[in-house]
Amino acid sequence: MPQGPLDPNYYDIIVVGSGAAGLTAALSAKVSSPDLRVLIVEKAPREWRGGNGYFTAGAYRTAHDGLPSLLPLVSNVPPELKDKIDLAPYTTEDFQHDLQRVTGGRIDKELGAVLVNDSLDTVRWLKEHGNVDWWLSFRRQAYEVQGRWKFWGGLALTVKDGGKGLIKNLSEAVTKRGIVTSFDTKVERLLLNGEGSIAGVEVSKQGNADSKFQLYAPSVILCAGGFEANRELRKSFMGPGWELAHVRGTPYNTGDMLLAALDLDARKAGDYSHTGCHSVCWDADSPPDGGDRDKTNEFTKSGYPLGLMLNVRGQRFVDEGVDLRK
Ligand SMILES: Cc1cc2nc3c(=O)[nH]c(=O)nc-3n(C[C@H](O)[C@H](O)[C@H](O)COP(=O)(O)OP(=O)(O)OC[C@H]3O[C@@H](n4cnc5c(N)ncnc54)[C@H](O)[C@@H]3O)c2cc1C
Repeated sequence: MPQGPLDPNYYDIIVVGSGAAGLTAALSAKVSSPDLRVLIVEKAPREWRGGNGYFTAGAYRTAHDGLPSLLPLVSNVPPELKDKIDLAPYTTEDFQHDLQRVTGGRIDKELGAVLVNDSLDTVRWLKEHGNVDWWLSFRRQAYEVQGRWKFWGGLALTVKDGGKGLIKNLSEAVTKRGIVTSFDTKVERLLLNGEGSIAGVEVSKQGNADSKFQLYAPSVILCAGGFEANRELRKSFMGPGWELAHVRGTPYNTGDMLLAALDLDARKAGDYSHTGCHSVCWDADSPPDGGDRDKTNEFTKSGYPLGLMLNVRGQRFVDEGVDLRK
């Protein structure tokens, strides 16, 4: 067991995972209390930093009161452009309604309310503390119609350089605060103290399960993604066929921490008997078991709502018009 705060393997907070959630959680801890010893533990090597966040378009959904509430936050609207933009408010009610709609009413109400009600404050916080360079999403969420830029839906914001930019911004902010990330370090299991509370994590280095050692902290924050890069878990949680789906992002999200938490009888949120996922139309020639660090989200086929999709038997299998990335 640890020798207390003087032990070099003792931290106040250990964050598992260096995606956007992990980087932001670590940053948030340091912003609140600069003296805290915070460590990020990341299974992937440094070249794969940023988890799935790196592969994204950096698109961000937020409630807002229309253009005037977003303009002070973005850096890509020169003065001569702002009078040529039509961007209607996207209220907290609109956001809540969309969450209900796409989840078929199965959203966790408490978490959903936090996501919606704190969305714009989070944008401000990420700009101030996370160094995030917000842009209006002209390329994906607006069309130029008779000289005016018309936005639709709630996804008006993006980050300069997409996910690559987001992870760069957050990583720089984390480093500036003196937070260390230990790469190539996989959390194998969670440690409990005599009272059954979390006491730290057991880790291995560079996939070598024989080199295990312990790191201690009274708070461990799990930001280690889902099980999307694990063929067996996809099949067992989501049903036959899902083992064949292509992985769009990091190959390191194999559900380790979900299983470790469930092993300790962690309270589940959501409905495990009807597990769904966020999937998209993706190029069949993409790598099957992990994304491409260079092309990232360029395999997306986002124009499909405008046409018909047929499978290899020539059958339609999806309602292409059900949504238009609202
Ligand atoms: C191609 C693509 C495009 C997307 N586009 C968007 C978008 O535009 N907008 C949007 O909002 N969302 C988008 N998403 C979803 C978004 O990426 C995720 O919701 C978000 O990145 C999740 O962040 P996270 O930090 O929770 O997890 P992740 O980013 O997945 O990070 C998890 C980290 O945990 C690490 N880890 C896993 N197991 C262990 C272990 N045992 N020990 C130590 N570390 C471990 C992993 O290596 C990884 O680095 C997209 C996703 C993909 C794949």
